[in-house]
Amino acid sequence: MRSCDYFDAHTHIENFGEYQSIPALFKSNINENIGLLMMAMDTPSYLEAANAGRGCKNAVAAFGIHPWRAHLYHGKADEFEKYVREAAVVGEIGLCGKWAPEESEPFQQEVFERLLFLSKKYSRPVSVHTVGREAECFDIIKASGAANVCIHWFHGDPAAAKKYLDLGCYFSIGPDVGSSDEADRLARYLPRERILMETDGADCFTWARKCKKSPWQYEPSAIIDVYYRAARARGESLDTLSLYVKENFLSFTGL
Ligand SMILES: [Zn+2]
Repeated sequence: MRSCDYFDAHTHIENFGEYQSIPALFKSNINENIGLLMMAMDTPSYLEAANAGRGCKNAVAAFGIHPWRAHLYHGKADEFEKYVREAAVVGEIGLCGKWAPEESEPFQQEVFERLLFLSKKYSRPVSVHTVGREAECFDIIKASGAANVCIHWFHGDPAAAKKYLDLGCYFSIGPDVGSSDEADRLARYLPRERILMETDGADCFTWARKCKKSPWQYEPSAIIDVYYRAARARGESLDTLSLYVKENFLSFTGL
């Protein structure tokens, strides 16, 4: 991981195509230069990512239950511990107030709190989804005492971002940077020691940028375009940005 220049702190490899093709994909020269945290939606997707990442030194599988799937894991929290223990990172976890199915709502908090507790117990870094429930997520993270937290693709206002910064959180900038005023504002606002980059899965580009087809669709190297746009929004060179994002990524993950 330390030999990479670029890091995608939050991706979903389902979007790269068939899981079986992933080891071959990572062997291309450009992809060898990219470190990936492969987020889980649920237990099966964690197991698939862990399997696909075996032998890929730059791709690390995270274990988590996405808030959209929380209802499927009600009462099954005992299963989480062994996966948190074996995974180097926890994610994607959190609360969602915007796109989650209604049946997940009564169970999101219980699943989130349990996984935060375990991430603290095993000192795992965490990637958190906060969309539409930014204030509640803040209170829960603060109460949990979890130390190494990255807020993924943040949609809250600068005052909310400041609270997370004061708590010591990182932020991963999403693929809408460069095409959304809100994302550009956040990219400029964040101090350099707290910035990470993410794609949220390469096919999020089409959604984030409101285009029909992305040239990056099945490529881990899509993350370089996020770096490029974030550097432009911050008025910095790509080299400058990538150097400090690397430092941040390594200290966030401990990898
Ligand atoms: Zn995600």
